[in-house]
Amino acid sequence: MTTRRHLLWAAGAGTTAVLAASLFPRSAPAAASSEIFEVSYSDAEWRARLTPEQYQILRKEGTERAGTSPLNKEHRAGTFACAGCALPLFSSKTKFDSGTGWPSFWQPLDKAVATRQDRAYGMLRTEVHCRRCGGHLGHVFDDGPKPTGLRYCMNGLSLTFTPQPA
Ligand SMILES: [Zn+2]
Repeated sequence: MTTRRHLLWAAGAGTTAVLAASLFPRSAPAAASSEIFEVSYSDAEWRARLTPEQYQILRKEGTERAGTSPLNKEHRAGTFACAGCALPLFSSKTKFDSGTGWPSFWQPLDKAVATRQDRAYGMLRTEVHCRRCGGHLGHVFDDGPKPTGLRYCMNGLSLTFTPQPA
């Protein structure tokens, strides 16, 4: 505490605000306010477009309970798209069973997602969101399988699945 107080004392008023914001990341809007997204709706519009569960995940960075998504057991060939704006995000070719209870992929489609640092809950994680609408999808970790070594740990509620036409 001493160190933090000293920092706040030494910092100017503007810096203090920045420090305070970084200490309480959940007080910021769900999508990074510095990013501008092609698909953009007001909070009320998002509430109307999404189910309450989808809204909590996509717009409020919630996390679904592990093992609850039907997409965990989705093994057909096809495409997983953003539940917020329908942008295709992942191919079934990169899906793998991570054993975590969340749909997992080792690579997103080209230019589909963006990331930012997430310091919530005392952890440093890399948050993943839809590049087109900013909807929160999940996190990416570096303990995934080859060839990328990445594990995109996604909320099934953030995704919709369309099987490949036979
Ligand atoms: Zn989207």
